[in-house]
Amino acid sequence: MIALSAPLVEIHDIGPRFITKLKKLGIETVKDLLWHFPTRYEDFSQIYKIADLAPGQEATIQGVVKEIGGRRTWRRRLYLVETLISDESGSIRAVWFNQPYIKNILRPGRTANFSGKITITEDELYLSNPTYELLSEHSHHETKHTGRIVPVYPETKGLTSRGIRYLIKPILDTLQQLPEIIPQEILEKENLPLINKALRDVHFPKDIDDAVRAKKRFAFEDLFLLQLHNLLERLKLAQEKSVAIKIDIEEIKTLINRLPFKLTQSQKQSLWEILKDLEKNHPMNRLFQGDVGSGKTIIAAIAAVRTAHDGYQAAFMAPTEILARQHYNTLIKFFPNFEKGIVLLTSSESKIFYGHGLETDMKKTELKHIIAEGKINPVRNHVRAGAPEGPLGRTISNGVKIVIGTHALIQKNVRFGELALVIVDEQHRFGVDQRANLLKDKKIVPHFLSMSATPIPRTLSLTLFGDLDLSLITELPKNRKPIITKVAAPGNREKAYAFIRGQIKKGRQAFVICPRIEIANTNNHELPMNVTNIREISGKLAQIREARAVKEEYEKLSKKIFPDLRVAMLHGKMKPKEKEHVMKEFAERKSDILVATSVVEVGVDIPNATIMMIEGAERFGLAQLYQFRGRVGRGEHQSFCFLFTDSSAKTTRRRLKSIVEAKNGFELAEKDLQIRGPGEFLGEAQTGIPDLAMKALQNPELVKTARQTAYELLKKDRFLKNCPLLRERLNQFKKDIHLE
Ligand code: ADP
Ligand code: MG
Repeated sequence: MIALSAPLVEIHDIGPRFITKLKKLGIETVKDLLWHFPTRYEDFSQIYKIADLAPGQEATIQGVVKEIGGRRTWRRRLYLVETLISDESGSIRAVWFNQPYIKNILRPGRTANFSGKITITEDELYLSNPTYELLSEHSHHETKHTGRIVPVYPETKGLTSRGIRYLIKPILDTLQQLPEIIPQEILEKENLPLINKALRDVHFPKDIDDAVRAKKRFAFEDLFLLQLHNLLERLKLAQEKSVAIKIDIEEIKTLINRLPFKLTQSQKQSLWEILKDLEKNHPMNRLFQGDVGSGKTIIAAIAAVRTAHDGYQAAFMAPTEILARQHYNTLIKFFPNFEKGIVLLTSSESKIFYGHGLETDMKKTELKHIIAEGKINPVRNHVRAGAPEGPLGRTISNGVKIVIGTHALIQKNVRFGELALVIVDEQHRFGVDQRANLLKDKKIVPHFLSMSATPIPRTLSLTLFGDLDLSLITELPKNRKPIITKVAAPGNREKAYAFIRGQIKKGRQAFVICPRIEIANTNNHELPMNVTNIREISGKLAQIREARAVKEEYEKLSKKIFPDLRVAMLHGKMKPKEKEHVMKEFAERKSDILVATSVVEVGVDIPNATIMMIEGAERFGLAQLYQFRGRVGRGEHQSFCFLFTDSSAKTTRRRLKSIVEAKNGFELAEKDLQIRGPGEFLGEAQTGIPDLAMKALQNPELVKTARQTAYELLKKDRFLKNCPLLRERLNQFKKDIHLE
C-alpha cells in the first residue's frame, strides 16, 4: 500500500533521473504526482484493422513487428526508426524520429499496440511517431498507452506523457484508499464521483464521460473549499469587534460641498456603502473598485476624515512612495482646515500637517511615538519635548489621526494607538491576505477598505474575494474630455512621432508603451508545467526580454527620433527605488517622454501627460490597454491614445476598437475574458491570482453551485462538526492559500 504523502524517492521503481525531472515540475510526493492531471485525452480505445485505416485518422492497431531498422536521414540531422507491422488484414509502416532505442524494444516477432495519426505519402499510409505498447500473451495487464482512452499530460523536456503514465499507473494500482472529504449527499446531488474513483478516472478513464466527471469533481472540490473558506471568514468577521464610527450627515455634506467638483453618482453610492459599514461594530471588509481616474481617493479620504473626527485613527497605505505623497497632497488640498493631524511617513519623508497651512518635517521616531500614543493624555502630554514652538507644537500634543505611508512602512514598524480604519490602495498587487497580516493579535479589529483599479470580472471577484463586500465606481467624472483614441498601422508611426513632438513643444508629456513579450507559447514544453510555475517563470523571462525591448525602444527614441528631447525609461527589471525615481522625475516634468513596459505605475496622476502611444497593442488584453489609456486624460488638456498594431486582421482591429466604445473597465474585462479565455486574461498583469480562479472563470456555473452548496452546509453545520475530514482539509487549504 502506498500512502499519499509518501515521497517519490521512496518508491523503488522510480529512478533518480525521473526524480530530478519530476522535481523540476514541483512534483515530489505521491500526492503531487497524482494531482498532476492530464490536460486532455486521446481516444485510442477502439482497435482497428490495418486494412480499414484511413488517412488523417487517429487510431490504434494491434499487430506483429515484421521488420525494424534505423538510419540517419540524408542531412544526418535525424535518426529514423522504421518498422513494418502487420495484422491479419494487412500491413503498415511506422516511423519514429530520434528514438533509436525503439529498435531494441520492438523486436521482430513481438506483438504490440500502436496508437497515433495515420499519415499519407505518395499513396502509402504510415503511422508517424505512434505511441506503442508491447503486449505479452501471458499477462492480462491493462494497457496504459494504447487501446484505451489515454491521458496526455503537460510535459517537460525529457519527461513525456508516456513517462508520466508509466509512473502513475502502478501507483494508482497500489494506492491506499483515500478518505472522502466531501459529504456523500453533496456528491450525489452534484453527480460527482467519490475521490478514489475520481482519481483513477482522471488518469485512466473508461470513457470520456468518466474523465469529465472526475475533473469536475476536483474543480468542484477546490471551489467548494474556497467558498467555505470565504464564508467562514465572513462569519468570523461578523463576530470580531471593531469601533463603530458614527455617520454625521451634516459634516459629510459640508466636506462634499467644499470640494471643487461634484461627486459622481457612483462615488456617492460607494461612500454611502462605506459609511454604513463603518457604523457597525464589527469590521468592514470591503473591496473598492473603479477605473483609473474614477476618483476613489477622495471617497476613501472622506471616510478617513470622518473616522478622525469621531476620535480614531485611520491609516492610508499606498504601494509606492510617489503614490503615498500624492495621497497626502490630495488630502491637504481638499481638507485644508483639517486640524487632527495628517502624517506622511515613507522611507524618505516624514512630515505632519495640522491645517491652516501648518506643516512641518519631523523625525520619524518622534512621529511614530505620537502615532503610537493615540489618545493623548492631556496632562502628561500638554507640552511635548521636542515639539515645535507655536501653534503647531500645541496641536501636535493632540495626536495624529490620519497616517499616510507605503504598505511596507506602516505594516512593519508603526504601532497605532487607536486605529479604526485601514485603507489600502492598489491592493491587488499585494495579495489578498494582507488584511490578515496587518490585523494579527488585535482585540479591536480596524475596518478594512482596499482599493483597486484592476477591473476584475464579477465571477472572478466572487470567487476570489468572496469574503469581501464590493463597491464599484462605474463612471468617470463628468468633466473628463474623452480621450481621442486611434488604432494605427505601422505606416503612421512617423506621423505619430511628429504629433508627439508638437505636443511636447506645447509643454505636454507622452508615454510610449513597448509591446508585451510573449513567452509561454514559444517554448512551453521546456517550462515546468505546474501552472503557477509556468506563470512565474514565463513572467520572469518576459520581464528580462521586456527590459531589453524597452532599452531598444529607448535607444531608438532618444538617439534617432527625439535626440533633442528628454526621454526616460521604466521597466520591471529596475529596482523599486529606481522606478520611483524615474516616475518622480516624469511627474515633475523633468522628462518629456517615458518609454515603459506594463509596469508604469497604476495610480500616479500625471495630468500633464496627454499622449499614450502603445506599440504592439494587439498583444495586450483589452482591460490592460484600457488602463494604460486611463493614465492620460486626467488634466485640462485634450489627450490622445494611439494603439499601434502590425496586424491587419479584421478581428484584431475590431477588438482594439472596442476600447473606443467601452463604457468602463469592467465591461472590457468581461469582453476580454470571452475573447481570449481565462489563461490569456490572467496571464499578464494579474500574477498572484491562484489557479483556482482560472477554473472558476472557465465555469461560472460551478462557482455558483460551489457557493450555494457551501452556504447550505454551513447553515446546517456552522462548525462542520459532522464533517471532521472536511474541516481538517479546510485548515490545510487555509494554510496553502495563505502561502500563495
Ligand atoms: P483613482 O480612482 O484612479 O484613484 P483618483 O482618486 O486619483 O482616481 O482621481 C483622479 C482625479 O480625479 C483626481 O485628480 C481627483 O481629484 C479627481 N476627481 C475625483 N472625483 C472627481 C469628480 N467627481 N469630479 C471631477 N474630478 C474628480
Ligand atoms: Mg488611485
